Amino acid sequence: MEHGLQTCHGCGLLSRPTPGAEENFCPRCDEELVFRKPKSLERTLAYLIAAAVCYVPANLLPVMTTTTAGGSESDTIMQGVVLLWSPTGWPLSLIVLFASIMIPSAKILALLYLVISVKRGSIKNNAQRVQLYRMVEIIGRWSMVDVFVDTFTVSLIQLQPLMAVTPGPGLFFFAAVVVLTMLAVESFDPRLIWDSANAKEIQDEVQNA
Ligand SMILES: [Zn+2]
Repeated sequence: MEHGLQTCHGCGLLSRPTPGAEENFCPRCDEELVFRKPKSLERTLAYLIAAAVCYVPANLLPVMTTTTAGGSESDTIMQGVVLLWSPTGWPLSLIVLFASIMIPSAKILALLYLVISVKRGSIKNNAQRVQLYRMVEIIGRWSMVDVFVDTFTVSLIQLQPLMAVTPGPGLFFFAAVVVLTMLAVESFDPRLIWDSANAKEIQDEVQNA
């Protein structure tokens, strides 16, 4: 950035932006180029707060209603985990527990830590923080595994006669948490982690000169 060079997220090409131009595009693959994602920390934090707010009803409201001849029953995610926990079904129960409850909260906490540490200008554990960001990014791609498990479970239940499963309001909030955390990951610019370290180096050089 000090030398006026930009890297492309699409193809990795290093190029010099046209002087005076507001927007720049990669000369090789036409991807939009920015030095840093605009308002990265503010946007990430906004998405995180929204995700944390939706996380509460996602866990408290029923995600599905099972109707049988004996009546209907609404279950939250946690009740679903307990229901699935049987001698044969415990792996499914664990997958739902991890994908629905533990991974979203871990993602929110990890990104919150990254935003706060960058905001405070921390220069410690930079390599570990970048690794943490990459991990959150990789896990994000698997967020939908949960939807797959739920659909799978529902189709298993539907196979039984005289039984119907309908989605509950909790599912809407759960989907919102998944989408909002994905947007938060996208908004965060990991290059910001190194900016404070560079600023500190320049400051030290100026002081030593
Ligand atoms: Zn490119």
